[in-house]
Amino acid sequence: MNHLTLHNYVPKTALTNVNELLNRFHFHLKIKSNRKTKHGDFRPLKDGSFQITINNDLNKYRFLITLIHEIAHLKTFKESRKVKPHGLEWKINFQHLLLPFLKPTIFPEELLPIIANYIRNPKASTDSDIKLSLALKQYDEKSDKDYIFEIPLKSMFKYNNRIFEKGEKRRVRYICKELKTNKEYLFHPNAEVELVK
Ligand SMILES: [Zn+2]
Repeated sequence: MNHLTLHNYVPKTALTNVNELLNRFHFHLKIKSNRKTKHGDFRPLKDGSFQITINNDLNKYRFLITLIHEIAHLKTFKESRKVKPHGLEWKINFQHLLLPFLKPTIFPEELLPIIANYIRNPKASTDSDIKLSLALKQYDEKSDKDYIFEIPLKSMFKYNNRIFEKGEKRRVRYICKELKTNKEYLFHPNAEVELVK
């Protein structure tokens, strides 16, 4: 799998950071069809290379968290082979690797405090953290659309068959202008829109 296809799986705003990690830690990344027992895994291969697999049906936030979880295994494995898979060394690596992604341009704002709390003492599976699991589940609906919070300022988008331009945020909502009428409307950050190119 090359870096180009990755943009279908992680938030677009995370791509630069993700590509940096892919260049820093060399591994084969495979996208697998749904396995009920796990979201992903890490494995050293016989030839000395590394493989990370991630399920293809994860929403982009869970995909990103799972990818970082597995990269943390790789980093921990390279540092020492004598530590527990989800021990302290892995936890610290996971925290350090995930922290740069905890920004409101990458994750919905309501998820940020929940993820921040989760990585203080992460478990083997995101599903063992009920709060995080429930919060992530809200985004499970597969969709080609983007959330308003993640598209660039001034970009044009389609919503209910009308074309708008994204404007500044006022308190919690974005002020967007309908192009046809020049009228301003307020949009919730998680409104799903279609970018107009
Ligand atoms: Zn793990």
